[in-house]
Amino acid sequence: MTTPATLYIVVPCYNESEVFPITSAELTALLKEMIAQDKISESSRILFVDDGSRDNTWELISTEYSSNKYVCGLKLACNVGHQNALFAGLMAAKDKCDITVSIDADLQDDTNAIIEMVDKFYQGNDIVYGVRSSRKKDSFFKRTTAQSFYKFMNKMGAKTVYNHADFRLMSRRAVEQLSNYSERNMFLRGIVPLIGYKSDCVYYDRKERVAGESKYPLKKMINFAFDGITSFSIKPITFIFTLGIIIIICSLIAAVYAFVAYFCGNTVPGWTSLMLSIWFLGGVQLVSVGLIGQYIGKIYIESKKRPRYNNEIFLGDEDRN
Ligand code: UDP
Ligand code: MG
Repeated sequence: MTTPATLYIVVPCYNESEVFPITSAELTALLKEMIAQDKISESSRILFVDDGSRDNTWELISTEYSSNKYVCGLKLACNVGHQNALFAGLMAAKDKCDITVSIDADLQDDTNAIIEMVDKFYQGNDIVYGVRSSRKKDSFFKRTTAQSFYKFMNKMGAKTVYNHADFRLMSRRAVEQLSNYSERNMFLRGIVPLIGYKSDCVYYDRKERVAGESKYPLKKMINFAFDGITSFSIKPITFIFTLGIIIIICSLIAAVYAFVAYFCGNTVPGWTSLMLSIWFLGGVQLVSVGLIGQYIGKIYIESKKRPRYNNEIFLGDEDRN
């Protein structure tokens, strides 16, 4: 058998001191079990990223680091948010391992799914998404808001995997490719599918938070959704443009009606011209704003400097035998 791959489990933590001891113990046990089964190499690690916590999360990570050889830590200078913290962890891990798995610190995602993810990696997948098969344990509010979020995001042009958050496996080359996405507004769930390597899903039941409170209250969730849409898609601009065209068409239809009404003498003086100008000018203005928006949209896409393509395999002379 070939040598097993080195796995890094990347865990972003923000004020997670309540849950940290449980998470660390569970992930360490899992890592040991997988090493014993020869699924992953002895140099596999759990990388905790402290996202500028204000409680003693970092002290806990560094104490654990000194006593547990499977644990590493990265402390960010200040709070930069879940997505950036996760990205920082993936970048720190990418040169040290063959596969990364990202998971939230609160153990809402089933850690056993990691074993299945690694199996799927050996079957030739570069990306394996953890997908929640049920959200029974989430509150009704969280469930409905989160599910509408996925649907809305897809409608708005940010293609995401339904019911998948940031619990996923990525091969080293997939993480390397991810590092080429140089945008500042990181919306990983939208970017990872763009990488394009072979991917698969693993299904699991989402659990309740083991301890501590959600770091995503409604306000943050709305911001996150807004961020996801505006950092991914120029559909809202196209929407304004289309609305303008529709209003102009309506105003032309209304013109016919207004003229008929005018010639039938059913109108007060000034009504026809006033109505028509309001509608027509409104439409023209929206089209103009939408048109300017299209140019801004192009600038926005250019400014992201995303890779244009991603080579998967090149068969050249040197590969012929
Ligand atoms: N998190 C982070 N920085 C933040 C907010 C959250 O690193 O500014 C981490 C948090 O510690 C957790 C993960 O992101 O590991 C997801 O947060 P949470 O579980 O609170 O979100 P929810 O599951 O409620 O959507
Ligand atoms: Mg959570």
